[in-house]
Amino acid sequence: MKTIDTDYLVVGAGAAGMAFTDALTGEGDADVVMVDRRAAPGGHWHDAYPFVRLHQPSATYGVNSRPLGHDAIDTMGSDVGLYERATAPEICGYYRKVLDEVLLPSGQVRFFGMCDYVGDFAREHVFTSRLTGISTRVRVRRKVVDTTYLEVAVPATHKPAFAIDADVRFMPVGELVHLDAAPSGYTILGGGKTAMDACYWLLENGVEPARIRWIRPRDSWVLPRTCFQPLALVGPTLEAFAQALEILGQAVSVEDLYLQLEAGGLARRFDRTVTPTMFRGAILSAAECDALERIEQVVRLGRIRRLGTDRIVLEHGEIPTDPRQVHVDCTASAFKVNPERAIFDRDRITLQGLVGGFTSFSAATIGFVEATRSDDVEKNRLCVPTRTLDQPSDWIRAYRGMIHTNLMNAADPDMAAWLERTRLNITGGLGRYQDDPRIQAALARIAGLAASAQHNADRLLAS
Ligand SMILES: Cc1cc2nc3c(=O)[nH]c(=O)nc-3n(C[C@H](O)[C@H](O)[C@H](O)COP(=O)(O)OP(=O)(O)OC[C@H]3O[C@@H](n4cnc5c(N)ncnc54)[C@H](O)[C@@H]3O)c2cc1C
Repeated sequence: MKTIDTDYLVVGAGAAGMAFTDALTGEGDADVVMVDRRAAPGGHWHDAYPFVRLHQPSATYGVNSRPLGHDAIDTMGSDVGLYERATAPEICGYYRKVLDEVLLPSGQVRFFGMCDYVGDFAREHVFTSRLTGISTRVRVRRKVVDTTYLEVAVPATHKPAFAIDADVRFMPVGELVHLDAAPSGYTILGGGKTAMDACYWLLENGVEPARIRWIRPRDSWVLPRTCFQPLALVGPTLEAFAQALEILGQAVSVEDLYLQLEAGGLARRFDRTVTPTMFRGAILSAAECDALERIEQVVRLGRIRRLGTDRIVLEHGEIPTDPRQVHVDCTASAFKVNPERAIFDRDRITLQGLVGGFTSFSAATIGFVEATRSDDVEKNRLCVPTRTLDQPSDWIRAYRGMIHTNLMNAADPDMAAWLERTRLNITGGLGRYQDDPRIQAALARIAGLAASAQHNADRLLAS
């Protein structure tokens, strides 16, 4: 078997692997081998449904060294006045260019597409080409980087966890754009961001809310997009962050926390009579939320067990359906909820989120820390994983991660300089606002509130 040598073997060239590699190689002369079973970098975006967009601005997504999009502010659509968000084709094209125009020309990176990593992330590092069947052994001088720990699943590639009768009209969300005649109605399966996107897309395209039935095993809290705007809109973002820290510092329970967040415009749900049991960090505009609230046929009978031609069996009951009804699968769970593990563990790096979502920023920061520090204890002190967002209390973990990553780490001059200059940090580039009293007031407020918020976050999570 052929053997190649490298400093770092990065398994997976999705958003995480690309941001990590770009930051690592940008800070030094490390040699990197990237392996992905897909033909091109970009990960799950290659399988995304046609109308998907980032839910955060493009301005803070991708790799640090190259902008994604033009930092334009939308003038039409659901996000008027907010920073543009890339579509899946834009994201895939962007990563291809990053590979071809940045990483490969650096001479530091080799990319092996259509190859399965079949090693053990410990001693044995082997990948096999899906095209030739030939295996290659990799001798890793420094570290193997696992970007696959959280395993993203999307509707196009996942297998539904319920039985489906043969003649049911069932389709992954991406197939909606191929409909050639109006069905009797739309039954949307799933309560997450994909289902929200599917419902919104139907409404935006003129489908009456009454023709949409939404099977939501769990209701979800969502975050307003106005609270996560960078660059020229960073002032309101900082004010929202300060307000969130104030609420986090005072909340007496998770329920109390959300009631205060909702009252303050920092969290939203689609039905005020239902207490959500899910929080996955979905970020929506007010226009999207207003539209989704118009859907009144919401089925809350738990998970689907069987999709039949004339009835749907759920955990807690049954509902009728009909053969002309389209059933849209949005039940893929985007991330596996794996327990956090140390990001730096001797000769292995396991990429995970630092701030709850914001994959690019987290992975690039880990790459920066790997390139600029030598001691694992120090690296793990700077990069603390925040587990995959799933339940309402995970909002607290996400904000605790933001306090740690953006505020506590800024005590280190080197980290402060990185946080200031990386385009992936929503609150980066604040140096240019030194004369802006509104921003300075928000920053002073944040500094004053961080310790009590952190303290109460620990208390709430412990209880
Ligand atoms: C609809 C949707 C919208 C989203 N919007 C945002 C957003 O706005 N902001 C945000 O931060 N996040 C968003 N996310 C989260 C998103 O998943 C991350 O931004 C990011 O794309 C995840 O990248 P990844 O590299 O972790 O995983 P992936 O994209 O899954 O990449 C992992 C790669 O590893 C490869 N791989 C796995 N196993 C092997 C193996 N054994 N051998 C070889 N290759 C392997 C896979 O082929 C894949 O290319 C969104 C997710 C979804 C589903």
